[in-house]
Amino acid sequence: MTRDEYLRWIVQRWLDLPAGACPPVLPNELAALLLRDEERLTAHRDPWDNWEFPFSEVFRRGTLLAPEIDTWAASCPGRRPLWPDGHKFALAISHDVDDVSHRVTPAQWWRRAKLALGGGAKAAIRSLPGTVWQARTLSPTPDTDPTIGRLLDIERELAIPASWFFTVWPPARPHLVDCVHAFADPCRFRGRRATVADVIRAVADCGHEVGLHGSYVSAIDGPALVAEKTALDGVLGQPTTSIRQHWLHWRVDTTPHLQAAAGFTVDGTLGFNNSAGFRCGTSLPFPWWDGGPLDILMVPVSVMDVALFRPGDMGLDLTLALRLVDDIIQRVEASGGILSLLIHPNHIIDPRVETLLRHTVGTCWERGALLATHADIRRSWDLRVDAQAAQLGAKA
Ligand SMILES: [Zn+2]
Repeated sequence: MTRDEYLRWIVQRWLDLPAGACPPVLPNELAALLLRDEERLTAHRDPWDNWEFPFSEVFRRGTLLAPEIDTWAASCPGRRPLWPDGHKFALAISHDVDDVSHRVTPAQWWRRAKLALGGGAKAAIRSLPGTVWQARTLSPTPDTDPTIGRLLDIERELAIPASWFFTVWPPARPHLVDCVHAFADPCRFRGRRATVADVIRAVADCGHEVGLHGSYVSAIDGPALVAEKTALDGVLGQPTTSIRQHWLHWRVDTTPHLQAAAGFTVDGTLGFNNSAGFRCGTSLPFPWWDGGPLDILMVPVSVMDVALFRPGDMGLDLTLALRLVDDIIQRVEASGGILSLLIHPNHIIDPRVETLLRHTVGTCWERGALLATHADIRRSWDLRVDAQAAQLGAKA
């Protein structure tokens, strides 16, 4: 399938025009955003090899927070809604479990210290004070109830599903920024002694989706990614299908291929670490294309707790953050896309983060959003593609 054929195909999938209808042509500048041409043509990256918002075309032309492609698609005549059962748009809540607790076991602390020492002199100087400071949080059984347990309680109360992404230790090639909890590490969960693996299974037993939070290097190392998937699949007793790369480390020419080859069918990595925004100019799901379509659906992430509140990133207060989220909800609702909100479980103790979650869920719920996991979005996408194929077959 050529690039132009793919673009016609994806527009047809988004619009769901009747069989035989000729889909409008996605303007070149929007196609370039979608297929990440700027990331192919520009070698520049941040110190963590990431493509961040200040480098992007959407930032330069002032559309970082406006999904231009969605607005274009919504303006096309004959478009039918993307979401089932009359839902106007979708909300996908996800959690990257970088830390299972606010405390660490001695083994976890020692892993972190070794990563800091092994990252070169500069990294060691930068990281060691924090690592030494973290020693004050040592615990033989770090409590997960204020983090994972608290978030599970809130989501049970709100009756929402979420996609939880867990890391695997050790990765094939540990990196300074990797997460350091292992499946067999002890912790406390619901007041009892447990292991991290028990907690992961408990999250799945609550009806949530569990996916892989791929290590830093797994974004560019196929065998490492497969090994992590195999390990997490073993804990769950079933194959995982969703992934988000840790640190949002994602290489345009490498990562989607590795993810698809490893057996993942949905990726939620495409977003920015330091700002809300639409990295691909869209919130809509789309299978990745790189010389041909890959069997991996992109679900771009547009809002992350850390990026909103951390000084040095957006550094917003709660009022400003909610105002920004309301603006994004309005735009996504108007164009029938997805609001993908990333909340880290270790930040749910921050009242601003809990309010952000409750406010976003409440607002989207009132406005008729479909609350979906990444796996739900993939299933919904497959149903739409199958229905369109059947329609075309019937017409033929
Ligand atoms: Zn992470």
